Amino acid sequence: MSSIIRQALCSLFYPKTCAMCGAYIGDIAHVLCDTCLADLPRTEQAEQRQNETEMALLGQPADMVKASKVMHVNSAAAFLFFEKNHPIQTMIHQMKYADRPDIGFYMGRQAAMEFQYAGFFDGIDVIIPMPLHPKRLRERGYNQSEYIASGIGSVTGIPVDTTHVTRKRNTPKQALQKGEERKSNVANAFEVNHPEQLYHKHILVVDDLITTGETMKSCLQAMKLFRGATFHVMALCKAT
Ligand SMILES: [Zn+2]
Repeated sequence: MSSIIRQALCSLFYPKTCAMCGAYIGDIAHVLCDTCLADLPRTEQAEQRQNETEMALLGQPADMVKASKVMHVNSAAAFLFFEKNHPIQTMIHQMKYADRPDIGFYMGRQAAMEFQYAGFFDGIDVIIPMPLHPKRLRERGYNQSEYIASGIGSVTGIPVDTTHVTRKRNTPKQALQKGEERKSNVANAFEVNHPEQLYHKHILVVDDLITTGETMKSCLQAMKLFRGATFHVMALCKAT
């Protein structure tokens, strides 16, 4: 069954409750109640350079200019801060593990509406969601980052591309690992296909959660084969 049809069927049976606090909201077009939407732990990173998300990818401010030239990363930002034991953990957990890809789409739209006023998407040609390994995609039934990317695309009109970057190794879950283990775990985990089709493009790479940044760095390393391309990174959440 296609994920879109399955999503539609599932939505018939969802209790219409807020994905963060569980309050009844009675409107299938929304995922959060007004209070939780207003109180989201926003990072305000859309216009802020040298922010925590950029530092996860590019290092300390003194090293950033050099690192951004090496990695061709122009900007990076997260929409929200992720904190354990905060209601946002409930929402992210549902999005990833409870068959609620609609949360990803909704949050992608929300993030894009709030970021586009800062000009964050100006000049971007294509959005690439962080790929899942095919095995995990089969288990989960959907890639939550693809839904976030589609939400961003629906607001900005920028196309979403899922064909040029794929995951070739099924790496253990990052949440179970620490430091150096994470680094070696994700090295060479990605491969690119037909890189020539994305030469000199401005590419927005979208992920659900950036923790140490190692997965995103590995993905960016693989995408260096897109010669002359520049990268912008956007995560739904940055772990604090
Ligand atoms: Zn709520």
